[in-house]
Amino acid sequence: MREIVDRLRQERNLPRAQMRDLLLCEDAAALEYLYAQARAVREEAYGKDVYIRALVEFTNYCKNDCLYCGIRRSNHRAQRYRLSQEDILACAQKGYALGFRTVVLQGGEDPHFTDARLCAIVRGIRALLPDVAITLSVGERTEESYRALFAAGANRYLLRHETANAAHYAQLHPAELSLEHRMGCLKALKAIGFQTGCGFMVGSPGQTMETLLDDLAFTAALNPEMVGLGPFIPHADTPFAAQPPGTVEQTLKLLSIVRLMLPRVLLPATTALATLDPMGCEKGMLAGANVVMPNLTPPGAREKYQLYDGKSVSGSEDADALEELRARMRAIGYQIVTDRGDYRPAP
Ligand code: SAH
Repeated sequence: MREIVDRLRQERNLPRAQMRDLLLCEDAAALEYLYAQARAVREEAYGKDVYIRALVEFTNYCKNDCLYCGIRRSNHRAQRYRLSQEDILACAQKGYALGFRTVVLQGGEDPHFTDARLCAIVRGIRALLPDVAITLSVGERTEESYRALFAAGANRYLLRHETANAAHYAQLHPAELSLEHRMGCLKALKAIGFQTGCGFMVGSPGQTMETLLDDLAFTAALNPEMVGLGPFIPHADTPFAAQPPGTVEQTLKLLSIVRLMLPRVLLPATTALATLDPMGCEKGMLAGANVVMPNLTPPGAREKYQLYDGKSVSGSEDADALEELRARMRAIGYQIVTDRGDYRPAP
């Protein structure tokens, strides 16, 4: 197994059969070796720095009906909210004062946020805080819309592909959504010049070794600047309520593999990972992650942005919580920095 890991580090990919062996590996020493190689590669590119992103979940209205997601349109038990432009700017400003230099605006696909409204919000943040990076995570829009948002001052866009296998995609999504369209969006975002993120849930219903291998192959081919990767966690008011969650171990393994495939990728230890394991954030870092996204959504809204059960409603909205996160990162040898944390291409 060590030879396979060494080969992955050296060649940044593996033949499918060897990648399958690695995904199936449960040997603790081999996995520790995998994590150590991922850390080494991460430290070559980014040292011990941990980048923080201020996550603002600004709307939970959604026109889509993704089977896994707690804010899907047919979940009538979700209490819907949307933040005003003033609320969003206030979150960004608060984040800035705490040391955040990236704001991430995430939401459901809410038709209220037309290009005009969303561009106005982006321009508002850009005017107020000229030196922050603005990341959007608002799903599938037209290429024209993506261009307008980029022109308004957005820098990055997160759009997980969810699964790179078309049949699996159809198991997770309603008929009106397709993998082909999602991939078209990702290609458009890259071409426009966004630092672009794809990604997938680990352990989503219907996921197999083969679909995961497709995810890894797709990720390598897209060569994104960011990858979002966390365990699937069921939500009680979705069709997947009774499905088992993904595992921490498999998520860590995939974080390490992605780090070795894409040495410079911006890779968060996700909220979903921290939801399954109180040490999830630390474990993610030690498996090659280099980003954390503390939740700065105002209380009142935050509890309503329930993509899955058990999602933490505490966050780093205040200086104390952020100080605690700093201490936790220091305890494992890493340091949170005040930096935009842009993608650094290889010299
Ligand atoms: N509407 C935006 C943002 C989606 S929410 C979009 O379509 O991109 C961000 C991510 O949360 C999704 O991409 C999905 O991978 C993840 N997510 C949704 N439901 C989840 C669940 N039940 N468990 C774990 N992750 C989930």
